[in-house]
Amino acid sequence: EQDATAAVRPATSATPVLPASGDAVIDLREAIRAKLAFVIGKSPETARERDWFAATALALRDRIVAACAAADRSVPNKRVYYLSLEFLIGRLLSDAMNNLGLVETTRAALKDLGVDLGAVEAAEPDAALGNGGLGRLAACFMESMASIGIPAYGYGIRYDHGLFRQSFENGWQREAPETWLAEGNPWEFVRPEATYTIGFGGHVTMSMVSEGVIRRSWHPTETVKAVAHDVPVVGWKGRTVNTLRLWKAEAEQPVDLAQFNGGDHVGAVANRMRAEAISRVLYPSDSSTAGQELRLRQEYFFTSASLQDLVRRHVAERGDVRTLPDHAAIQLNDTHPAIAVPELMRILLEDHGLIWEDAWHVTTNTLNYTNHTLLPEALETWPVELMERLLPRHMQIIYLINWMHLEEQAKNGKSDAAHLAAVSLIDESHGRRVRMGHLAFHGSRRVNGVSALHTELMRKTVFADLHALDPDKIVNKTNGITFRRWFHNANPGLTRLAVDAVGAGVLDNPELLKGLDAFAQDASFVERYAAVRRGRKEALARIIEDRAGVSVDPSALFDVQIKRIHEYKRQLLNVIETVALYQAIKAEPHKDWTSRVKIFGGKAAPSYTQAKLIIKLACDVARAVNDDPEVADRLKVVFMPNYSVSLAEAIIPAADLSEQISTAGMEASGTGNMKFALNGALTVGTLDGANIEIRDHVGAENIFIFGLDAAGVQARSAEPHYARDAIWNSPRLAAALDMIASGRFSPEEPNRFRPLTDDLRHRDQYLLTVDFDDYWRAQREIDAAWKDPAAWWRRAIHNTARMAWFSSDRSMREYAEEIWRVRVA
Ligand code: PLP
Repeated sequence: EQDATAAVRPATSATPVLPASGDAVIDLREAIRAKLAFVIGKSPETARERDWFAATALALRDRIVAACAAADRSVPNKRVYYLSLEFLIGRLLSDAMNNLGLVETTRAALKDLGVDLGAVEAAEPDAALGNGGLGRLAACFMESMASIGIPAYGYGIRYDHGLFRQSFENGWQREAPETWLAEGNPWEFVRPEATYTIGFGGHVTMSMVSEGVIRRSWHPTETVKAVAHDVPVVGWKGRTVNTLRLWKAEAEQPVDLAQFNGGDHVGAVANRMRAEAISRVLYPSDSSTAGQELRLRQEYFFTSASLQDLVRRHVAERGDVRTLPDHAAIQLNDTHPAIAVPELMRILLEDHGLIWEDAWHVTTNTLNYTNHTLLPEALETWPVELMERLLPRHMQIIYLINWMHLEEQAKNGKSDAAHLAAVSLIDESHGRRVRMGHLAFHGSRRVNGVSALHTELMRKTVFADLHALDPDKIVNKTNGITFRRWFHNANPGLTRLAVDAVGAGVLDNPELLKGLDAFAQDASFVERYAAVRRGRKEALARIIEDRAGVSVDPSALFDVQIKRIHEYKRQLLNVIETVALYQAIKAEPHKDWTSRVKIFGGKAAPSYTQAKLIIKLACDVARAVNDDPEVADRLKVVFMPNYSVSLAEAIIPAADLSEQISTAGMEASGTGNMKFALNGALTVGTLDGANIEIRDHVGAENIFIFGLDAAGVQARSAEPHYARDAIWNSPRLAAALDMIASGRFSPEEPNRFRPLTDDLRHRDQYLLTVDFDDYWRAQREIDAAWKDPAAWWRRAIHNTARMAWFSSDRSMREYAEEIWRVRVA
């Protein structure tokens, strides 16, 4: 199915690195033609856009390989290994063209062949191997490492099916499998020679290797093969090419021939199905744990394959496994790969014969762990019983690590039961479970949070006791975004404007964006800036019409909240404010209201009932508001289906207002917030995650902050009846809630939204009622600000000018220096 979002890109590239030269165009044109004929097996007459995409990708992949061959091939002193269960990549064609400096060349080559580049870009399926921020961060970090020259491998899983495809049936979310690999993946190289065996289950034996030295060995009952599939990641100007190595699960025996010949054709492939299930589908959970055995199998599968691969490489290059920490830094993206702690120990003890102390030294000087959430429901723990059954050797190692860890406490005179219970790797409070966060923390050299506030809260809350034992271990590394994708590629019009104003150097060094501050008063610059936004809003209006069937006015304020649907992100606060605004407009229809289009997008985890009901409410409110002639164009509400990286690239440059309204203390960082601000949307947000640092950079006068801060949230949560009191004190909120509860938006089922309104009245864990009035105030301040275009655009330009620090190049330099201790070329 074709996706129209790439077509919104204007027909001129932002990056004047290499204008199309005649010879280069001919070379590429002929390369594409040859790929189409000899690899795809099609003629230009019969080729579909998907075929042209594959031919173009293959031709560009050759250039990437050539860039790789031309680069420094010597063994780097130290490599980074980024282990992540998720890589939310999106499309790769525009990344590749841009970083190779071949956008215009490719456009011209395709044009010669009678093919439109925009259509070819649109034919590429998104690689949606992730749920949201965590997976997208991994993708940005991979691009940045290649761009600034850090030798790195990303390791993950090559899911057959990425994040589900979302559609709406009468406003209810429906999920269908996503099929990005249906026609193959032209970017990848299959590497059957890089195959590892992954064990599960079985038992552990002991043998005496010499006097007093006992060696334990694991004998799994089940084994699965992990086969490497490599996607090259090319950095800016083709400088470095790194590898994203994704593991596919395969059975040792594809078919049981005896069973097959006996007539049991289905049973003959049952083992194969069980093995391949491991890399079949991405778990669609976000900010909650999946908690299923298959999930633990996925985690161990990719962690073990990755560690075996990197240890093999190290030993082949350096001979001695003990020097691993000098030449490899491993980053665990959240606790999903935390099983790396006992797995690396097992490899070092069993496969390389190290003694415990040496193995522990190597492990704790190689591993590092990034924490992504403090929400209790999202902190991974695994039942001891499950671990003992699936990974018996690892459970033994964890027990031994924990025993030594607790002995150390006793030695230091900290043996009171409460302290030991708090720092133990095993939670015994409700059944016995392994705390994966504690395991990752204890087994790592450095542990980082992803924004200043989040890191501070890590030190004070979840990891307070462990932090006290090793105060230097936790460091902050505020997230970032790659400007190549989220500025140069997603917004070539604005990037060209920046290049014209401050010079092409801004493409290499985003700090030069600061020069735009001076243009905030320049009428002709402001006019061009506004015109770029206007163009993107018109393009988005067409996409909205096409996908959501709603006609919107591009001159209205585009107010956008796109991200996973979760109660802590408070889309419901936005919907309730929409209802209150609807009531206010109807009460005073002749007032000079600021016209707004409220745009929502995001997926709810399929099992997350409350989140799905919030989507339904937004859709039902949209229907009522959009159909009400009294409101006309002053308020429109749109829920865009199937939010994805590509859709984000189309929406963000068209946004005037960015909604970042999570309950303070609950969003670890956010990265969507950075993408909007860089593209010049003004933020309405709470003092949460990286919003605080964004405010510090863009200036408090250029952002709309409202609501309680994290300390305020903590204090108010402790008060009894805070929700009841807040509703009592806010007639506007009470009226909006009453309207929703009355069935006004769901006449066919009047009580449909009671689970939402009742929850707010009685519990309101996310303090939506408490923040409502201040949110309303901020929104009306925004209405007023919109009426002063000169001041609005000045603020927007200051946002773009001051966001350079949020480049993921900066994040990666900080990791390189303070966590990995690798030199950046
Ligand atoms: N999903 C997609 C497709 C994204 O591009 C992003 C970030 O831009 C996110 C999720 C994370 O968004 P947020 O930081 O707003 O939660």
